[in-house]
Amino acid sequence: MNKDILELDGAIGGGQVLRSALSLSTLSGRPFSIHNIRAKRSRPGLLRQHLTAVQAAAQICSAEVQGVELGSQQLSFKPGAIRGGDYHFAIGSAGSCTLVLQTLLPALLRADAPSRLQISGGTHNPLAPPADFLQLAWLPLLRRMGAQVDMQLLRHGFAPAGGGAIQAQITPSPLQPLHLGEPGAVLRQQARALLAGVPGHVGERELARVARRLRWPQEDLQFAWLGQDEGPGNALLLEIVCERVTEVFSAFGQSGVRAERVADSAIDQAREWLQSGAAVAEHLADQLLLPMALAGGGSLTTPRMTEHLESSIQVLRKFLPVDIRASITDKGALLIELEA
Ligand code: ATP
Repeated sequence: MNKDILELDGAIGGGQVLRSALSLSTLSGRPFSIHNIRAKRSRPGLLRQHLTAVQAAAQICSAEVQGVELGSQQLSFKPGAIRGGDYHFAIGSAGSCTLVLQTLLPALLRADAPSRLQISGGTHNPLAPPADFLQLAWLPLLRRMGAQVDMQLLRHGFAPAGGGAIQAQITPSPLQPLHLGEPGAVLRQQARALLAGVPGHVGERELARVARRLRWPQEDLQFAWLGQDEGPGNALLLEIVCERVTEVFSAFGQSGVRAERVADSAIDQAREWLQSGAAVAEHLADQLLLPMALAGGGSLTTPRMTEHLESSIQVLRKFLPVDIRASITDKGALLIELEA
């Protein structure tokens, strides 16, 4: 095993560069140091979510760490053996619980024993996977690869209040390659407007927009009324179940932004994907590369290259002897192929 410290420049992307490095370092035993963490973001360095991800990754493998404090733009991480067990992590803000879970899951699939995780913080954040996305879209694909993992949403947490929680049960299990060429025909679809302490007309207008622009019938539109104490918060989730893949597109209510505009954001993402014929949309694409690399192979099609995809590929290549090729299919989608 190569124990030389791997040097990473965090400026190639955002928090995901750090989280991928934590997962890969923990798994491979290779120590790393990173500088310029989130250097191009408006608030650079470690935010609470990133800090928790580092502390949590360090805890599950008894890593030696330096530079781990809020705002830090550089740190080093020297992993030890991965240990399964019962873990509780509190982000202490609305920082995303799902991103912390995604950091830990690959390593815990290779631990010496099963794990139970509880993570508190935000569960429905803009610019992060909502808990429903993990449950309906990402985890089913991981299970198809062989991962034994379950996850429950215990309580919703929206930005800026947080206060949400998820839990997961992970049994160590090897991953098999996954190839996702096309999504297959649409089998069913559902739009859900989540409302926590937000007036009902917000959800009505979001769902009306979905009905008008995507032509989804009334029976595919649903309200989910959450307790006042879980809010305030509003999200629109569009679940599209195809023969081989389920996708979830989301948008979040914001004060000063009209409900129709919020809905448009999720609708535009869904439309782009449906029209592309690609197997997965941008978020699943960048979140599947690491599991595919661990599985020793895989492939997917997605509408286009993104910053997240690009930086994930760079970090994977640094840690693993993996061959990653990108090409354009005859239908104009981006094809990514991995071979370890
Ligand atoms: P920053 O960009 O501020 O550093 P960060 O640490 O929150 O922020 P990113 O590096 O931007 O993280 O990574 C965010 C991750 O969340 C990416 O994997 C991205 O694909 C995913 N993501 C963002 N929005 C969604 C969404 N609506 N649904 C599913 N996944 C999402």
